[in-house]
Amino acid sequence: MEWCVPMPKIELHAHLNGSIRDSTLLELARELGEKGAIVFSDVEHVILKSDRALNEVFKLFDLIHIITTDHKTVARITKEVIEDFAADNVVYLELRTTPKRNDSKAMSKRSYLEAVLEGIRSVNSVEVDLSGELKTDAFAHSHSADGLCNGIGSKIYVRLLLSIDRRETAEAAMETVELAVELQDFGVVGIDLCGNPNVGQWLTFLPALEYAKKQGIPITLHCGEVPNPVEIYAMLDFLPKRIGHACCLEDEDWKLLKRLEIPVEICLTSNIKTETIASTDVHHFADLYKSNHPLILCTDDCGVFSTSLSAEYALASSAFGLGKREMFHLAQKAIDFIFASGRVKKDLKAIFASAHTKLN
Ligand code: 5GP
Repeated sequence: MEWCVPMPKIELHAHLNGSIRDSTLLELARELGEKGAIVFSDVEHVILKSDRALNEVFKLFDLIHIITTDHKTVARITKEVIEDFAADNVVYLELRTTPKRNDSKAMSKRSYLEAVLEGIRSVNSVEVDLSGELKTDAFAHSHSADGLCNGIGSKIYVRLLLSIDRRETAEAAMETVELAVELQDFGVVGIDLCGNPNVGQWLTFLPALEYAKKQGIPITLHCGEVPNPVEIYAMLDFLPKRIGHACCLEDEDWKLLKRLEIPVEICLTSNIKTETIASTDVHHFADLYKSNHPLILCTDDCGVFSTSLSAEYALASSAFGLGKREMFHLAQKAIDFIFASGRVKKDLKAIFASAHTKLN
């Protein structure tokens, strides 16, 4: 299924710190080991292990955050992650990350985001459209059908989603939303609620999420990663613009989700590796796809789960018997669910139309 790679793709559910290259993570861990901050031999196998249950994944994130939390490293990993998505012919990336305060590194949520923005601006292997100021015709020109279908993406739209971690307080969540409101002109297009689904209460985050909604900031929620009918209902009832995962919904929830037509970000490898879903044979992708429900294939954490968006497309194609044409249309349909402006949607439609001509 090599055709999945040159195909233009849209990534809407990718966590920055989950998308770091293994090689970078090992290099950074080795450096910290040399400084005596961690014991490298203790963490090496943790980084390289590929199958982890959901709770183990969150332990790994705690380790990753120890390894990556200083401004220079945040900028570096951001740059690399964008370059990797662009090399996989992702033409539009909504990258999500949790703004972090770390007093020992003189880091505030704001300075964390400044480091992310610096990382985006330092990308040099591909042209990046961050705040939407580039002209449509320049973008369409650089994304000629040849460029897209021959494999090397020459330009990528990047937008940011600011994540609220379920471990955070109501005040910290509100600070994140305030930053999202303030940084709308710098590529921030939405808010995400993420983190260990066994931690924290929906009601803690509701005021911040309601405030975001009032400010017109689109919201996506990690929803139904563990069975929690009360929370799942409350989340759907909140009418987020999208939800991620939706693994543990009950019949009534599926009915509500479908009635409300809330798009679902599907992360196949993540769901299977974390054993949230037993196998692709029983994955809800099949039912949602058959029902024509809005869905978007995503990676979640391509570093942690050793995947790529092309690999997710190849997996869906083989598991659900979908051909090149169906997969192309699935990728194209994702345009409808991005959080960026109508102008960006229009540009992406032109890119896909041009790639479609080439496909035929
Ligand atoms: P960061 O926000 O630090 O850039 O990316 C890592 C964070 O994303 C993790 O600490 C966790 O809060 C969140 N995350 C990554 N993968 C998942 C997932 O599969 N489920 C949930 N609920 N959160 C995740």
